[in-house]
Amino acid sequence: MARTEETLNPFLIAQKQVRWAVTELGLPDAVYEILKQPLRVLEVSIPVVMDDGTVRVFTGFRSQHNDALGPTKGGLRFFTEVSVDEVKALSMWMTFKCAVLGLPYGGGKGAIICNPKELSKRELEELSRGYIRNVSQIVGPEKDIPAPDVYTNPQIMAWMVDEFSRMRERNAFGLMTGKPLILGGSAGRNEATGRGCVTCAVEACKRLGIKLDGARVVVEGYGNAGSVAARLIHDMGAKVIAVNDSKGGIYRAEGLDPRAVLEHKEKTGSVVGFPGSEPVSNEELLQLECEILIPAALENQITAEVAQGVKAAIISEAANGPTTPEADEILAEKGVFVIPDILASAGGVTVSYFEWVQNIMNYYWTEEEVNEKLRVMMARAFDAVYQMHRTKNVTMRRAAFMVAVNRVAEAMKVRGWLD
Ligand code: GLU
Repeated sequence: MARTEETLNPFLIAQKQVRWAVTELGLPDAVYEILKQPLRVLEVSIPVVMDDGTVRVFTGFRSQHNDALGPTKGGLRFFTEVSVDEVKALSMWMTFKCAVLGLPYGGGKGAIICNPKELSKRELEELSRGYIRNVSQIVGPEKDIPAPDVYTNPQIMAWMVDEFSRMRERNAFGLMTGKPLILGGSAGRNEATGRGCVTCAVEACKRLGIKLDGARVVVEGYGNAGSVAARLIHDMGAKVIAVNDSKGGIYRAEGLDPRAVLEHKEKTGSVVGFPGSEPVSNEELLQLECEILIPAALENQITAEVAQGVKAAIISEAANGPTTPEADEILAEKGVFVIPDILASAGGVTVSYFEWVQNIMNYYWTEEEVNEKLRVMMARAFDAVYQMHRTKNVTMRRAAFMVAVNRVAEAMKVRGWLD
């Protein structure tokens, strides 16, 4: 199929995935009718007085897809090119991500259209506070709990918690997750997405009989998820041969030192030009010969064209929606073992759940405790999806959707939403 707007629209992709799972599971049509769109989408305008004295009005969204299993949960991204359809799709994927992990949450997602790299610290703070004021009616520790996502971080979470706490005249740490440690953040949260993705890759290696020691790993995207995944898998004995970021990629057949690459990125703004490495384009990187490929950037990176040349044995998706449906079919035909985003990228929201629980208890776990709980939950979820994959003879992505949609449908049924 041609690469058109329609085939790459994440909302239409997400709808198709749900439609397929509902049909395959033999669930009533009402399940699809409820799940094919979000319960609620709010669009807000956020005026900010810029440093030069002019006023700029930013557009933001919050989409709450489904709350059958609990309050909605999901990140908030600051990005130049984000559409309402993308936010809707991402909120939908959060519903299923939480359900696959067995978390007591529904799915939500938010975004502000902006380029955070062009904003001063003060402008960023004003924008963050303005956003939370404008969505304050629909968020809250028992309603909808935002968290970091693309280009948002613990500092932004802290400003938002502070603003909301002022409005409510009491501290509301449970409003957001991914907060700084001093403000009720959880040990291990920063590393959780990368850690969860690596746990899945390790589980897959075990099932497929691939030795992790010396396995070649390629990481697309060197932000929070990608850089942590690279470091953890390197420390387990794998060889990270290529990584990239929005400015370009680097390759070294003998393996890169992920810590040194991160230092280089922090110093220069990019992984590009890392001493001893060769440059590599995004397409070349995704098609390198390797055992494990970790897409950890944005949606629609592995297209049908790219998929034709993929040589990885395993793809562990740390990003949301990195593989298009056409690419998925090609990868399945080629026998690539794809661990879908709603499973492989769920480490972040899982530790967000631990953070929220700790905020409610006002009692905090050590990093070792958090990491161990995360490992257990990821391995359990992997196993449930793997069982479905084997017994129904479907791809891991389809299996994950079957597990997730089934759980959400069960909750909706006992709540009386279906009959
Ligand atoms: N933004 C992350 C995701 O897409 C984490 C969400 C959360 O922690 O609520 O899964």
